[in-house]
Amino acid sequence: MKNAQCKKCLNKFEEKKIFTIQQFQYTKEPPYKWTLEFFKLLEIGEWDSFCENCLMDYSKILNNVWKNDT
Ligand SMILES: [Zn+2]
Repeated sequence: MKNAQCKKCLNKFEEKKIFTIQQFQYTKEPPYKWTLEFFKLLEIGEWDSFCENCLMDYSKILNNVWKNDT
């Protein structure tokens, strides 16, 4: 059943296909603390749900900003 909604594209997905920014805590860079601050500016919290595509988009933006910032 598609009962979870992506906050960005607003499409509905199965719960197991939904991701949160918490998965960035497993990436080496940027540090998760920095990542949380970054998403806070976008008004995105650890419990917001996103589909895989949208999270990938954010991942690219995140890495670009991180690279330009360091
Ligand atoms: Zn989405």
